[in-house]
Amino acid sequence: MTQMDRSQGRLARPANDDADTLAPVVTASGHRALLLEEPLIFEQGADGRTGVDLPEPAGRPSRLGGLDRRGAIGLPGLSEPQVVRHFTRLSQKNYGIDSGFFPLGSCTMKHNPRLNEKMARLPGFADLHPLQPPETVQGALALIHELAHWLTTLTGMPAVALSPAAGAHGEFCGMAAIRSALAARGDVRRRVLVPESAHGTNPATAAVLGYEVDPIPATDRGRVDLAAFKAKLGSDVAAVMITNPNTCGLFEDEIQDISRLIHEAGGFFYCDGANFNAIVGRVRPADLGVDCMHINLHKTFSTPHGGGGPGSGPVVLSAALAPYAPLPMVVMEQGQYRLVETAEGDAAASFGRLKAFHGQMGMFVRALAYMKSHGADGLRQVASDAVLNANYILARLKGDITASFEGPTMHEALFDDRFLKDTGVSTLDFAKALIDEGFHPMTMYFPLVVHGAMLIEPTETESKQSIDQFCDTMLSLARRAKEGDAASFQAAPRLTPRRRLDETQAARKPVLRWTQPALPKAAE
Ligand SMILES: *Cc1c(COP(=O)(O)O)cnc(C)c1O
Repeated sequence: MTQMDRSQGRLARPANDDADTLAPVVTASGHRALLLEEPLIFEQGADGRTGVDLPEPAGRPSRLGGLDRRGAIGLPGLSEPQVVRHFTRLSQKNYGIDSGFFPLGSCTMKHNPRLNEKMARLPGFADLHPLQPPETVQGALALIHELAHWLTTLTGMPAVALSPAAGAHGEFCGMAAIRSALAARGDVRRRVLVPESAHGTNPATAAVLGYEVDPIPATDRGRVDLAAFKAKLGSDVAAVMITNPNTCGLFEDEIQDISRLIHEAGGFFYCDGANFNAIVGRVRPADLGVDCMHINLHKTFSTPHGGGGPGSGPVVLSAALAPYAPLPMVVMEQGQYRLVETAEGDAAASFGRLKAFHGQMGMFVRALAYMKSHGADGLRQVASDAVLNANYILARLKGDITASFEGPTMHEALFDDRFLKDTGVSTLDFAKALIDEGFHPMTMYFPLVVHGAMLIEPTETESKQSIDQFCDTMLSLARRAKEGDAASFQAAPRLTPRRRLDETQAARKPVLRWTQPALPKAAE
């Protein structure tokens, strides 16, 4: 294989690499160079070892009234350096946006500016307690209020609920507001229409709220089939949930018709705003007729995410849905910010609380820092650059890797597995080979509307250089697959600490608990 041109950085292997002529390296230690194997922390622990070593105080009577622990507690005993090394080594096995390109489609894995981190760590924000009296946290409430202003301005919507903790939670919030609005007018509706290309959280949200999910097929242009949508409308349809741009990376160009038709049928238009990065500063969802939409602050407004980390999914609401918004909300009264925490006054129709406290304060700070450092013009440029980067990838790859739909795309490029036909290589094999090449794979097998999907979202923060390196790698893998190198794809990844895992077993029978071999006998 030819080594690709890398004009920067050190070689990942020595130039005089003769490893190919020797047997594969098997080390006595199990380590691979300075990448160390790492046992579980429990396997490393030893009884009685500790990070502090103070003598047992003598002659102090126990005040536990006979409730002292008698046996070993079963927690690992470790010294401080062991703990530090353990977690440092684990962190080195983790891959994140700070390690390299992360083209996971639909996830908007963009750089998280360090300025945001600095702001979030200011003690005036970081050290607050959610139960502090509002008079003592006026600055934090002002920040929440200002963030709400940016979100309502960018979307053109009159109200926003800030407490949802993620996109999926925001969906729940928006759909719960819709259900409340319908209930308030005595209108029982049981169906929610969801396009086939939707993210799994959309049908899940509708189902959790007791609705029947009715899928809308896609056209061969990758958009909602308007005729099929029309045919499904009726007086029992509560809402349609549409992602725009959709999960094929395409703008739903009949969105205004969809919005008009659902409203004529007495239903609501829920918009999944996870892809807002593609249109922020350029399209106001209110102008499309949206009734409510969640915004993933951790995607569009660049707060770190992944691995279940903190998210934030504010929901913007139309005037018709605003009365049902969850508590608490921040209001400004006589020069003071106040938290409305009970269903009273203007909030009398609120459907209640979604979570403890007020939302993810750290995410609010990061998102507002991001917005203010970009400014309105900068946010517009974010959308343009994200779309430009995705189209650059589409243009570079589509000659060799089958693009699913004709024409330009928005913020992500969708390919399918037709180019792998008869090669014996699957989308999964291709993604695993990408790992050996030093790239986190793209989103695979989603959306479901194309076969063997590969969904690539570069975001605006990737340089042309890193995108080119990725495209070069994709093209070289495509060439290898077509040249009949299936066996090496099926064996990939070969350079990772662990090879292919049994993902079915891992999902069906996860081993989530470490069981202690045998505790030492309780001391008498
Ligand atoms: C990420 C995403 C969601 C869910 O958001 P979370 O913050 O992960 O809960 C919903 N819809 C789409 C299209 C997404 O990409």
